[in-house]
Amino acid sequence: MTTTREQIAFDVLFVGAGPANLAGAVHLMQLAKRRNLNLEVALIEKGAEVGSHALSGAVLNPIALKELMPGYREAGCPIEKEVRGEAFCVLTEKSCFSVPFVPKYMRNQGFHIISLSKFVRWLGAVAEDLGVNVFPGFAGQEVLYGQDDKTVIGIRTGDKGIGKDGKPKANFEPGIDILAKVTVLGEGAQGALLGQMERKLSLFAGQVPQTFETGMKEVIQLPEKNYFTSSAANTIHTLGYPLGLDTHGGGFIYEMKDNRLALGLVVGLGYGDPMLDLYEEFMRFKKHPFVWDLITNGRVVEQGARVIGNGGYFTVPRLAVDGAVVVGASASMLNAPGLKGIHTAMKSGMLAAEAILEAFSKGRFTQEALAHYHDLFESSWLKKELYVGRNFAQALSRKAPLKFIHLGVQYLTGGRGLFDRMSIEKDAKTLRPLKHGGPETSRNKYARHDYDDALLVDKLTGVYLSKTQHREDQPCHLVVHDRDLCVNECFEIYGSPCTRFCPGNVYEIEVEEKTQKRRLKLNPSNCLHCKTCEIKDPYGNITWTCPEGGDGPGYTVA
Ligand SMILES: Cc1cc2nc3c(=O)[nH]c(=O)nc-3n(C[C@H](O)[C@H](O)[C@H](O)COP(=O)(O)OP(=O)(O)OC[C@H]3O[C@@H](n4cnc5c(N)ncnc54)[C@H](O)[C@@H]3O)c2cc1C
Repeated sequence: MTTTREQIAFDVLFVGAGPANLAGAVHLMQLAKRRNLNLEVALIEKGAEVGSHALSGAVLNPIALKELMPGYREAGCPIEKEVRGEAFCVLTEKSCFSVPFVPKYMRNQGFHIISLSKFVRWLGAVAEDLGVNVFPGFAGQEVLYGQDDKTVIGIRTGDKGIGKDGKPKANFEPGIDILAKVTVLGEGAQGALLGQMERKLSLFAGQVPQTFETGMKEVIQLPEKNYFTSSAANTIHTLGYPLGLDTHGGGFIYEMKDNRLALGLVVGLGYGDPMLDLYEEFMRFKKHPFVWDLITNGRVVEQGARVIGNGGYFTVPRLAVDGAVVVGASASMLNAPGLKGIHTAMKSGMLAAEAILEAFSKGRFTQEALAHYHDLFESSWLKKELYVGRNFAQALSRKAPLKFIHLGVQYLTGGRGLFDRMSIEKDAKTLRPLKHGGPETSRNKYARHDYDDALLVDKLTGVYLSKTQHREDQPCHLVVHDRDLCVNECFEIYGSPCTRFCPGNVYEIEVEEKTQKRRLKLNPSNCLHCKTCEIKDPYGNITWTCPEGGDGPGYTVA
């Protein structure tokens, strides 16, 4: 079928309405106005609205926001609470030990507690007021290249109205080719278009492999009289239970306004036990007596999940190619020791904006012209922040007690540690085969929880509480390349870990009644767009692609 597609041309196209691109678009418009330069700028977002796919903790270090908009409070920036005190606790199965000091990278004094969803909605409105054309509900599906097959000239948005059989339906709307002199990729961690670009242009060549964590988060409505009414600490971080020494990660609990709290568990995807069920770990965390006391009589009002790229400085890709730059979590701009990626994403977007403006003043948009972004990054506070955590994820991947030795020495040497530029394995490679050759062997280790539909909800209720929706009759956006591999080799060796690492219950193995053969059943409409599957699948057998624009989670307070 040949499809006629509309083409629209802009000067700059931002793909993704996260903090990185929104800060970048706002900064670009501010700078252009100051120079009397009229730029046509567009920003697309795959969520139905700006903010509907935004999920974070979220404690915001306001350093980049202050640079972007010194009067952000007066301009109505939605802040839930100020950080007024913090606690750092180690959990054992039954107890909680409060550490008398908070490690320096994790200190949050002077920071704000926000809802990322509300924050980016506000920043989206600021961008629109400055003249940015914001198009929510449009998913970037394909990177477009010029005749030389290496200059990025824009992106194609996904078609809408294709049936499961791949054929257009009556309401078919072809995707649009959005052309731009500069395309800014800010898709967040594990970007789909970035993956395409990587296959062609090798942006990550020579870098340490990117590693990830999956963060699961809930917003819980508490009774009027609750823990925070009488506690000085309103940001709490935990280590230890339920993850143990060899799976890194931790919990967070932040006070929000209107008697709500944000609570979550982050699990490093370099874990080895294929029976680990990420969602079940999250439920265990909530059932810990210390956490349970904080949330008793509460009710989950929103839930979601998203991966975080925690590899740090040595995983930052080439930031500019001909016609495009990469910003935010897509470019690995996260302060991993501090678990903070909002201000770093914003700053990278702002630096990219400065470089783009410079490129417009020269009228050249080649890799060389845009490489100014890299120079700006190297001389910024952002680089310094990332550099301190340059070996952090690698240290976390080591077994205890070596892990703690590495972390201790890094803490004392400003991140250098015992070896600089430590190596690490890709998360897909760390699963251990099941010990006794069958998926039943260690199943009992992770007992199911008693769900109560209010404070402990099962995966499907969680999906419902994320307000995730996908049009059912569309091609499956999760491409499983070899289904036989799933039901034979992966089932035998790893016990089908996709059924446990996906927090949305997208993957199921069922036995066909007639033939008694195993079959992979996919529930793509449950997909939270967290992208854990593409990262953790031990065979690299899953490719995550964007579903129809506007589909996916509908976060409002996450
Ligand atoms: C559970 C959790 C807790 C966290 N806690 C904190 C915290 O307390 N403080 C902190 O500073 N950071 C925290 N982070 C990290 C922080 O949220 C991220 O680093 C930050 O949001 C990255 O910003 P970004 O703009 O690069 O990407 P994102 O925020 O991921 O935004 C990317 C946007 O692009 C859209 N998009 C993606 N692909 C396409 C496409 N092809 N076409 C169109 N649109 C697309 C997405 O829908 C999304 O809206 C946390 C993260 C998680 C998951």
